[in-house]
Amino acid sequence: MRHSPESDRYTDLADRRLAAVLRQEDLAELAGLSPFERLTCRVHRRWLYECIASPLHVVPVAGYRWCEDCATSATVTVDQLLHVVSVWCPQCGQTPSSFATDQIVRTCRASMAAAHQPHTGRFARPVALAVAQSA
Ligand SMILES: [Zn+2]
Ligand SMILES: [Zn+2]
Repeated sequence: MRHSPESDRYTDLADRRLAAVLRQEDLAELAGLSPFERLTCRVHRRWLYECIASPLHVVPVAGYRWCEDCATSATVTVDQLLHVVSVWCPQCGQTPSSFATDQIVRTCRASMAAAHQPHTGRFARPVALAVAQSA
């Protein structure tokens, strides 16, 4: 029998859907998925939208959560009710216009959708389809 610590890493997480997606994305990352495209965070073991505000999610060399003009970290606010994600620089008040900003908004929104998706047994199922079928 092959010991596989990777698959045991998230067994203590209470949120089983989160654990499943973390595992899925760990594997996808090994296969070439960009860590910035993940909907979950391996470091905090949470959905991305829950921990994107952490200083650990600032990656200056990638321009991720970073204002080039001010050389400072950008702030991310997540409004779960309105499903709105904003990225802005606390110094100049501007939204850094970069691929990374679009990526943060897109992945945070997708992680909210994945976290709140009704249980259908499969994560990969499109949210719209799941909603249509449960109606
Ligand atoms: Zn995190
Ligand atoms: Zn700025």
